[in-house]
Amino acid sequence: MQPLPSLDTRASRLLADHDVTSLAEHIAASSNCAPARARRAAAKAFHHAFAGDHKGDAPWDDDALRDGGIGRWARPALLVLSPRIELEIAERAPSEDGAERLLLRARDGALFESVIIPAQAGRDRARTTLCLSSQVGCARGCTFCETGTLGLQRQLAAAEIVDQYRIARRMCEPGTPDRPGDKRLTKRRDAALERKDESPSERSGEQQRAPEHFERPVSNIVFMGMGEPLDNLGELTRAISLLATQQAFAIPPSHITVSTAGVADKLAAFFRDTRAELAISLNAPDDERRNEVMPINRRFDLKTLRRALVDSLPPGRRVLFQYALFAGFNDALEDADRLAAYLGDIPARVNVIPANPGPQSDLSSPVDDRIDAFVRRLHARGVTALLRQPRGRDVGGACGQLAGARRKGAERESRSCPSR
Ligand code: SF4
Repeated sequence: MQPLPSLDTRASRLLADHDVTSLAEHIAASSNCAPARARRAAAKAFHHAFAGDHKGDAPWDDDALRDGGIGRWARPALLVLSPRIELEIAERAPSEDGAERLLLRARDGALFESVIIPAQAGRDRARTTLCLSSQVGCARGCTFCETGTLGLQRQLAAAEIVDQYRIARRMCEPGTPDRPGDKRLTKRRDAALERKDESPSERSGEQQRAPEHFERPVSNIVFMGMGEPLDNLGELTRAISLLATQQAFAIPPSHITVSTAGVADKLAAFFRDTRAELAISLNAPDDERRNEVMPINRRFDLKTLRRALVDSLPPGRRVLFQYALFAGFNDALEDADRLAAYLGDIPARVNVIPANPGPQSDLSSPVDDRIDAFVRRLHARGVTALLRQPRGRDVGGACGQLAGARRKGAERESRSCPSR
């Protein structure tokens, strides 16, 4: 598969499409200043726009940038860029378990999702995880995945990735009405949806009110939403660079995990371009079964994937393997043995995830006893394995369900429109 080309950041008018390097180049090109000076100005600009008291609503004019310590020589280059969030929330789907799925709309109407996953009571209380999308749709076509049924519609730009985080950050601040995890939201939202006189755009505006400060900030980011992140590597790594920039969002790269279906020929570039963690979605212990559910395996089989990983994994780094359990397909104890043998001495841990309901109805989650036995067998084979329960099942457990439903609804409407 040929990935779509990355967007041309030099043509972008959005600040969040840049990282420090590209913004410094932009400033230097228009002011002829030394690269190091341009980098300092870029860092100050990010701090003013994204990390100061305003956190996204910073005034952005000559006086404000001067007050932010940015010299006159750099300000014209910055003022042609916009620091504003360009995405809007099209729909919020709060789950009973506290997770909340967001359907986001880009300026061109493209729809994609992110999921805010607050910590469950008594466990990792300080942690709020945000699951981000990297593409609209996906070309990889995994049979258990709703997003795979959409095909690839387009890449997300770096700013569209970063803005997913900025929206979630606002929503997690104390004082925000209807913070994720607030059970009252479900009732209020249902009541709002029943009010026939309230338009979706009015609801959307109400939901986007911005608060003042954090209480439970987003602490971890996972790229496990829509899309194959390594098929959009340029935009992905620039977005991660900005998210990790101390003067901007200051998320440690070790708190950012990128999940791939196994694009083996991009692993070296991934480890070269970012310090984020890597997760590999494995889901089957041999090629025959992996071919069935993950077409990418026909391009990069398990042996090729393992070789590419071993060759490119930097010293001291670990990899997370994800293994979705499907009843009667990959959940036998012998499959746990095969999985352990495949991992061998790779520094790795495994997340075992009971499958979410997806488009392939014969792929369902095993019963609890079988799941526990599988995890115990991995432990017995010396594998560090954790059982991870999927969150947000009641609001579309698999990424792509909201966007898919909206898209199919729009197609039905356009087909039935009498004016066509
Ligand atoms: S599981 Fe990931 S790679 Fe596979 S189709 Fe879904 S989004 Fe794409």
